[in-house]
Amino acid sequence: MRIGVLGAGQLGRMLALAGYPLAKTFVFYDMSGSPSAGLGEVIIDREGQYLDDFLSRVDRVTYEFEHLPVNVAEKIAAHKPVHPCPRALQVCQNREAEKTLFGGLGIPTPEWKIADSAASLKAAAEELGCPVVAKSNTEGYDGKGQAVLKSPEDAEAAWTSIGHPRLIVEKFVDFHREVSIIAVRAEDGELAFYPMAENTHHEGILRYSIAPAPKLEKHVQEDAERYIKALLNELDYVGVLTLELFETTDGLVANEMAPRVHNSGHWTIEGAMTSQFENHIRAVSGHPLGNVAPRGLSCMINIIGEHGDIERILELPYAHVHLYNKGERPGRKLGHVNILADSYEELVWRVKNCAQFLPGSPEFKSSLTPKG
Ligand code: AMP
Repeated sequence: MRIGVLGAGQLGRMLALAGYPLAKTFVFYDMSGSPSAGLGEVIIDREGQYLDDFLSRVDRVTYEFEHLPVNVAEKIAAHKPVHPCPRALQVCQNREAEKTLFGGLGIPTPEWKIADSAASLKAAAEELGCPVVAKSNTEGYDGKGQAVLKSPEDAEAAWTSIGHPRLIVEKFVDFHREVSIIAVRAEDGELAFYPMAENTHHEGILRYSIAPAPKLEKHVQEDAERYIKALLNELDYVGVLTLELFETTDGLVANEMAPRVHNSGHWTIEGAMTSQFENHIRAVSGHPLGNVAPRGLSCMINIIGEHGDIERILELPYAHVHLYNKGERPGRKLGHVNILADSYEELVWRVKNCAQFLPGSPEFKSSLTPKG
C-alpha cells in the first residue's frame, strides 16, 4: 500500500520509519518548498500543479500538519480516502469552532469570549475577569499570536501586538501542569488510548514529556479518555488524535487538539508496545490497532536549536537518539532523545544526565521536581 502524506517534516519522516516494516511506501506532498522528511518520494508543489500526479501515486492519504488548506484536503478526499477527515482539520484551524465543539461534547474548556476590536477585547477581559489570554482565532500555534492581559487596560496594546481581526479571549487557567492524551481510532471504530503525558514547555516549545504522567490519578486518565473518545466518535475519526489539557484542582480543562501524531507522543517509539506512528499507519491503512501499553517509564527530551554533544548521548545505555537531519537554527526541532527507566527517581537522574549534553535545554523541571 502506498501512503501519501501531506507535509514532509519530521512527523512524516517518523510515520514512514514506522510504516516500512509493514511494507508501506510513502509519497510526501510538500507545499512549503522546504521538505525535511529526507526519505520516501517527495513532490514539491508550491503552486499546486502536481496534485493529480501525487494522487496517481498513492492509495490513501494522511497529513502531518494541520495548517493545510481544507479545500486541498477536500479535493483530495473526492479521489482517495483521506484520514483523518478534512472536518478535523477545519475544527483545528479555528479556535472558536474547536472550543464550541468541545463545549457541545461536554469537554470542559476555559471560559471564553470572542473579540473583534480593541474595545470588545477590553469588554471581554472585564467580563471574564483578568488575567485572560487573547489568541488569534486562526493561524496561531506554539503560543504565537497570543497575549496575556493582566488588566482590561492592556487591551489596546494586546490588540495591536496580536494584529489579528478576530481573537478568542480565554480566562487564564491556574493549572498544576500541562498534560496530553493521545488516542487512535481504527476504520472499524476500534479505539486505543495511550497513558497521558506530562509536558513541560519553554519559550512556547515543548521540551520534556514524561509518560505515564507521574502521580496521575486513575479518574483523571479516565476523564481524558472519555473526552477524546467523544471527539473521535463525533468526527468519525480514523488515525491518531491528540488532546492537550491543563490539570487543575477541579479536574481537566481542554486547551486544544491536534489531528495528528504529536510531539508529546514521541516517547511511544521505544516507550510503548506500539508507537503512535505505527498505530497511525495501521489505522489509516485499515489494519487492527497495536497494543498501546507502556514498556516502562519514559521521558522524551526535545533537541531544539542546536544538536549539542550527540556522541556523548549515544554513549548513554538508556538513551534512544532520534535525529531529523535538519540544520541548526534557534527554536528549530532537530531531534529528540527518549529515555527509559524502571522508576521515576531513576528516570529523573537519567534525564538530567542526558540534558547536560544539550546546551539549549532548559533545566529539567516537572511535577517530580521537589518544591522550594
Ligand atoms: P496554545 O497555543 O493554545 O497551545 O497555548 C500555548 C501555551 O500558552 C499553552 O501551552 C499554555 O502554557 C499557555 N496557555 C494557553 N492558553 C492558556 C489559558 N487559557 N490559561 C493559561 N495558560 C494558557
